[in-house]
Amino acid sequence: MADALRVCALYPELMNIYADRGNLALLQKRCGWRGLGFELSGAGLDDPLDPDAHDLFYIGGGQDRDQALCAEDLATVKRDALHAAAATGKVIFAVCGGYQLLGHAYELGGERLPGVGLVDLETVREDGPRLIGNVAIEVDLGGLPRVLAGFENHGGRTRLGASERPLGRVLAGHGNDGRSGFEGVRGGPKGTVVGTYLHGPLLPKNSWFSDWLTATALGRDASELSSLDDRLEDAAHQAARRAAGL
Ligand code: GLN
Repeated sequence: MADALRVCALYPELMNIYADRGNLALLQKRCGWRGLGFELSGAGLDDPLDPDAHDLFYIGGGQDRDQALCAEDLATVKRDALHAAAATGKVIFAVCGGYQLLGHAYELGGERLPGVGLVDLETVREDGPRLIGNVAIEVDLGGLPRVLAGFENHGGRTRLGASERPLGRVLAGHGNDGRSGFEGVRGGPKGTVVGTYLHGPLLPKNSWFSDWLTATALGRDASELSSLDDRLEDAAHQAARRAAGL
């Protein structure tokens, strides 16, 4: 196995609400506990991106105004590198505001922010309440279905294209649009482009999912990672499930 997980955080200053950078801290800690290296770099507006220099690309959540700053850059400066990375099975993991920029566009108030086009989805800011609350989804990543538990707070409603698969099915909460029963997306040429509305941050409450992301980014199976003492993480997961009413 490669001896380090190389992570690139996209727009780390602009796209980081609800402490979404906590997802990176969790990835780093678990690598350290396993004796795996962890290299973190950031790419802001106008920074070029090398698709081969990183295993996992991360975009956190963001307010509409910060998304507007990033959308054009993502769809131009960073587009080709992200498509090249997805084509070779690198992980692209995006939360909420970042997730909304993975597809074709995010429409709000007559404006159409371009997406990076990695997956077939659109997001529209319709009239109606923000979709807020604790949420739990059932996720099937190829083994037994597992639960992801977290928190959502979004005004945008996301619709997947007909052939696009969600990350999971809503057990509690709103999910992509409050109607479809779908949450998030898992697509791209190798199934390694992952978007979700769950944050707060997500990974400390769902350590099993962070291990899947790490292993997938390294081209491995999660069962190949050494096991850790996850009592605290499991307690956090159970608390998040209970908060969602499971
Ligand atoms: N600005 C987006 C929305 O409200 C995403 C917000 C977020 O990342 N929480 O839909």
